[in-house]
This record gives sequence, structure tokens and C-alpha cells, in this order.
Amino acid sequence: MRTTFVLLTFLSMAATAELATPPYGMQSRASKTLDIYVIDVEGGNATLLVAPSGESLLIDTGNSGNVAVRDAGRIMDAIKDAGLVQIDKLITTHWHQDHYGGMEKLAARIPIREFIDHGPNVQPAAATDQFLQTTYPQLYAKSKHTVVKAGERISISGLDVRVLTSAGETIRTPMAGAGKPNPYCATFKTADNNAEDPQSVGIHIAFGQFRSIHLGDLTRNKEFELMCPNDRVGPVDVLLGLHHGQPSSNSEVLIHAIRPRVAIMNNGIRKGGDPEIMKTIHSSPGLEDLWQLHFSQFSGQEYTVPGMFIANTFDEPQPAMPVAPLSAAQSGEAQPAAPTHDGAAYWIKVSANPDGSFTVTNSRNQFTKAYGKLVSR
Ligand SMILES: [Zn+2]
Ligand SMILES: [Zn+2]
Repeated sequence: MRTTFVLLTFLSMAATAELATPPYGMQSRASKTLDIYVIDVEGGNATLLVAPSGESLLIDTGNSGNVAVRDAGRIMDAIKDAGLVQIDKLITTHWHQDHYGGMEKLAARIPIREFIDHGPNVQPAAATDQFLQTTYPQLYAKSKHTVVKAGERISISGLDVRVLTSAGETIRTPMAGAGKPNPYCATFKTADNNAEDPQSVGIHIAFGQFRSIHLGDLTRNKEFELMCPNDRVGPVDVLLGLHHGQPSSNSEVLIHAIRPRVAIMNNGIRKGGDPEIMKTIHSSPGLEDLWQLHFSQFSGQEYTVPGMFIANTFDEPQPAMPVAPLSAAQSGEAQPAAPTHDGAAYWIKVSANPDGSFTVTNSRNQFTKAYGKLVSR
């Protein structure tokens, strides 16, 4: 009897060990949740979605230059945590270096099966044009390259992913359950910043009753086109990105109308989290929490959220966050050197259930909060 017991124990241990190392091309995944990793790339963007099927969608690849290796490494940490052996789809929202910068380094570490974007760069820049003429075609040569248009679907098994915006166009017909007149349109003030941000590929993600959107760096004027006179997006559970929390995006026309329960901001140490944006988010009807990728000196204690909702601090510990926010330097004005963050980095992870309930976890301090199923919206 005893021998049999020992043998069975040994066999089950062997089976467990085998499951932990799947053969190449196979994905090991026992999750029933949609998992979303919001990865710290220092005020750039990298957001990884993993469906229960194991299919994956990465939105952007962090910064270029001498931090591209760091950012690709941080993305790989999330990819490994999710147990992935490939990225099925990569959306590059637009051609700015804080969104495509780590792509080449990442592609050297893991296969990327499809490269999705809005089309050509419309904001001439030597390094970007060079990347698009030489590097990018080499990266997608052995896989697939797709230019998406507003209204199209992106196929991820188990999810319904729709393109809301791309190349400056927005969807014309509302999403299911949307289409009501948007009361915030009346007080909208126009704003734009550069040529590429408004080109952003923005997506809507549905998983059962759960809803989320990521709009890249889509600007206020495009938010207006998408949301006025009628709201074509409808309510969402989790608002991802927020253009790093910068004032050229994040109008009430968008944020207040879609009534996110949770917003997760991909801000940096000195990028986003400006007072006017924090006020807009915190006064959004139905908002339960804002989570931030970083402590932002542009928020100060006055506007920031409690530290347990913030994933990343600085390399050199700071004694305290000043109450007043640091304001962006005017030209010629002296400002203290920005703190750096090149060391250990942390993500914010969402695990969503088909009934619309979800949890959000800060991987720095393991603080986690459950957001229950809504009875009605
Ligand atoms: Zn950081
Ligand atoms: Zn950006």
C-alpha cells in the first residue's frame, strides 16, 4: 500500500512539473479571467491583454533609445508571468517613440505573430521614418502586417475587440448599448497637440459583461468626434491608458460620459497627473478608484491618490511628496532634476470575470481590491 502511495505521489509530481514547461508553441493557461497587465515604461505605453484562451494582445512596446532594452525587459516580465510563449497581436497605437520604441528589442525575445497599426506616420521625424522604412518591415516579414480601420474587429478568441478609432477616423455607429445624447458636449473646449496622437488606434474590449477601452494617445478633438453629439462608446468598467494623464486628452466629453468604475493611468514621474486632469477623473460620475503607474510630481499630495494605488516609486527613495504639485517648467525656467526609475518595476494587473466583476492588484505592495458585479448601470 505504502509503495503504491509513494509511486502515485511521484507520478503526480512528475505530471505537475511537465505542465509547468509546455512545449514550444503551446500555451499553458488555466485561467478563466481576462488578465490585463499595465506595465511601467516610464510615461510610455505597454499594456498586455491575455484572454482565457491564452491568446494575447499587446498594446505598444515602450520607449526607444538606450531604455528600449529596459522597457522590453519589463514587458517580457509580464509576458512570462502570464505564461505566454508568443504575442498573437501587437497594436502600435501611433508612431511616437514612447509607443513603438521597445518593439525591435521585444521581437528579438519572443515571436510576434501579427503587427497592427493605423498606417503611415503623418508626423515626419527622422528616427521614426527610418524605423518604418527599414526595421519595421523586417520585423513583420515573417508574420503578418495589418492596417486597421475604425469599426473593424480584431480577432482574439474569447474576446470581442473592436477598433473605435484609427488614422483620424472614428466609428460611425454606436457600440451595443451606447448612442445616447452626450450632455458634456455643450461645454467642450477644443484642443490638439501634434499630428500623430490623433491618429491613435483606439480599441473597445468586451469579455462577457466586462467592458474596457484603450485609446492610445487620442486627443480631445478626437474624443469629441467619437463622443458627440451622441456617445458611441457607452459605459466601461476599466478605462486604460488616459494618454499618460496629460491635459491634451481626457475631456469630460469622454471620461464623464463613459462613467468608468476604475481608471488606470500610464503616467510617468513627470508626465501626466496634472491637477486639471486629476479633477476631471475624480469628479467622473461612478468612479470608484483611479490607479496610477507612477507617483507623479505633477500631482503632489494635493491631487494624487493614496500610495497603495500607485505601482511605482523612484530609484532614490524620496522623504515625502510635497503637498503642492510641481508645475511644468516654462522655457528658460530652472527645475530640480527629475528622479529616475530604472530599477525594479511593477505592474497593475486587472483580472476580469465574464459577469463584469474584476479585481485590480498592485504588484509592488500586493494591495488588491475586488469590484463586484453591478446590478445595473
Ligand atoms: Zn517607473
Ligand atoms: Zn504617449
